Amino acid sequence: MEKIELLAPAGDLERLKIAVMYGADAVFLGGKKFSLRSRASNFDIEDIAEGVKFANTYGAKIHVTVNMLPHEEDLEGLKEYLMDLERIGVTAIICASPYIAKTAKTYAPKLEVHISTQHSSTNSAAVAYWKKRGMDRVVLARELTLEDVKETVKHSELPIEVFIHGGMCVAYSGRCVLSNHMTGRDANRGGCAQSCRWKYRLFDKDVALHEEEHLFSMSSKDLMAAKFIPDLIKAGVASLKIEGRMKSAYYIATLIKTYRMLIDEVYEKGSIDESRMQWYYQELSKAENRPTGVGFYEGLPTPFGQLYGINGAGVTQEFIAYVLEYDEQDGTALLEVRNHFAAHSEVEIFGPTITTTSFVIGDLYDKEGEKVEVANKPMQILKTKLPVKAQAHAMIRKVMCKDRSNVY
Ligand code: SF4
Repeated sequence: MEKIELLAPAGDLERLKIAVMYGADAVFLGGKKFSLRSRASNFDIEDIAEGVKFANTYGAKIHVTVNMLPHEEDLEGLKEYLMDLERIGVTAIICASPYIAKTAKTYAPKLEVHISTQHSSTNSAAVAYWKKRGMDRVVLARELTLEDVKETVKHSELPIEVFIHGGMCVAYSGRCVLSNHMTGRDANRGGCAQSCRWKYRLFDKDVALHEEEHLFSMSSKDLMAAKFIPDLIKAGVASLKIEGRMKSAYYIATLIKTYRMLIDEVYEKGSIDESRMQWYYQELSKAENRPTGVGFYEGLPTPFGQLYGINGAGVTQEFIAYVLEYDEQDGTALLEVRNHFAAHSEVEIFGPTITTTSFVIGDLYDKEGEKVEVANKPMQILKTKLPVKAQAHAMIRKVMCKDRSNVY
């Protein structure tokens, strides 16, 4: 049986390269056109071509989201765009529009067509429908239990992709018009303003339903489905997808490194014991502070699966330095500062082939060779001697003694 695919998000070339180096089998990205994240995309066709070349050197693949629901005025240039994606070696497009899927099959037949989760495929009959129309993979709706996924895979003849980590919609994905109503920005044409995460005042007629300081938010907790991975592998799922094209390189590195190790360990040992799983939870929780839950995998989420009252933004300050260069001979590293830290702090390093290792950082020196006590200028280049083995592209983070029990 083919090994399950680990599918990472990327919002630009830097993040694409990080995802690949940290162990993704495939990366999905959105171009500047026809994608739900088109407003935030940094990928023009040349960037996608460079991404394909880079990924291929690691044996990884590139999938491109072409997942908007196009209106009449959106159709211009679609055929040429799909032909360009085929020409530069993109493996697959992810789409929700049957018209886009059909156009790809007609004009760019080497592209695989993956049916997006926006289509809310919730059973094997839906998968059979897409197979009959020549599609190559179905991304299941996120609103399925583990048992639903197992049954669907068992009775399907197409490869199945499922989400394992990242933001969730409070509506069925692809069927929400909250942003359209609140801001005039069409969620299905790349404009979602994430209105579900705003804080609202709730009234029943003119009676406020809560204290002024406890505003209401509709946001769901992020999905974190690590504990289901052994079952998803056993069930024959083809691909495990992480959501988050807007997320940082640090977030992507942390998740991809951890899920890569987890998946490889399942293949090696057949299962993961509870203490190992706890270690994986801890590693995943370092990506950011946003609370996570198991989504729909164990059934309809309870109120504990929601973030009522919290908008949940969870940018972490823990990522302090990126390793630009490492000299194996003398153990010195050139660091790019990302967040404030002091010399002699307790830190951790992890990298494409380095598992999380703790140490105390030594003396820091700037480019002029002057000693620096506190690194507080983002992107400043510093030199230090490391007491542990490092590598270029590794990341250093603070060791935070905080309770992470709310994140899973
Ligand atoms: S407003 Fe929220 S639920 Fe609606 S599409 Fe955007 S993220 Fe999803």
